Amino acid sequence: MKTAVYPGSFDPATNGHIDVIERALRLFDKVIVAVGDNPGKKPTFTIEERMGMLKESTKHLNNVGIDSFSGLLLDFVKGKDSKIIIRGLRAVSDFEFEFQRALLNRVADGDIDTVFIMTKEHYVYLNSSIVKEMAMFGGKVSGLVPEIVEKRLKEKFSKT
Ligand code: ADP
Repeated sequence: MKTAVYPGSFDPATNGHIDVIERALRLFDKVIVAVGDNPGKKPTFTIEERMGMLKESTKHLNNVGIDSFSGLLLDFVKGKDSKIIIRGLRAVSDFEFEFQRALLNRVADGDIDTVFIMTKEHYVYLNSSIVKEMAMFGGKVSGLVPEIVEKRLKEKFSKT
């Protein structure tokens, strides 16, 4: 049973994230999506809200677990009996940061590998910040995010 962990902020999940999860499931028996507290980012949605949206958006898939973590990712991965970290790659701009992180994790634990998955061309330009910006100004985000995320974005930004 090969388990992979897909960590990220998922604030909120986009169709790019869901596409990466679906592709990872072709390679691994189980994928645990791990919603993390990134100290460098001020989140729009709480961890619970982000997990709820991910659960709803992956309910059509088997063998996906939605979890959260704070602290060292490596400890979380090992706690799940996994040695694989999944990350998505969009453009060259992601590469340097991801390369540094992957190597750091490898230095900390030589057994850990990071597997990069390229998303569908259609989602290459997508990230959570762009989606939030569009939603905030009343733009259309359907087709870019799962339905539940579209709904939650509308609720969130109609309040403010
Ligand atoms: P983080 O704050 O850890 O970068 P994100 O939620 O922004 O978390 O992203 C989690 C992972 O998903 C990262 O590896 C990121 O590169 C990847 N990702 C985000 N959006 C897309 C997308 N549209 N296509 C492919 N991968 C993506």
